[in-house]
Amino acid sequence: MEAAPAPSRRTVTVPCQFCGTWNRVDMARVADRPKCSECAKPILLDRPFGLSDATFDRVIAAAEVPVIVDCYADWCGPCRMMAPELDSFASRHAGAVFTAKLDTDRNQKTSQRFSIRSIPTLLRFEGGAKTAERAGALRLAEIERFAGVAPDA
Ligand SMILES: [Zn+2]
Repeated sequence: MEAAPAPSRRTVTVPCQFCGTWNRVDMARVADRPKCSECAKPILLDRPFGLSDATFDRVIAAAEVPVIVDCYADWCGPCRMMAPELDSFASRHAGAVFTAKLDTDRNQKTSQRFSIRSIPTLLRFEGGAKTAERAGALRLAEIERFAGVAPDA
């Protein structure tokens, strides 16, 4: 038996990081560690979720919450500086914002499509459309302002 979704229910649709099965996850239940419907491994949405050329469009289009994407590369020093700040952001705002990351070296199609010229660059998407972009390593409070979830906003 399937309950009708509440009007306030907001979901993201993501591929399982272990088996690749697509799962629709209720963002209100992120703290309960939702599990993959196929392999039952956890779907971890309280940390930056790795997107790729193959998964990017579907995840962005289906997300019913704002999405923040960190475009980075492994060799980039400022990206490594920002990584713990982004981790804190993802964990603090899990459920309200979907935090993702894109390795620009391994996913050049998507990087080129969004004309990523310097890294790190943060992108914000709402309703499937890009609504903001900011280059440079940001601290937690700046990421929160960029995402529109700053405590004092
Ligand atoms: Zn799975």
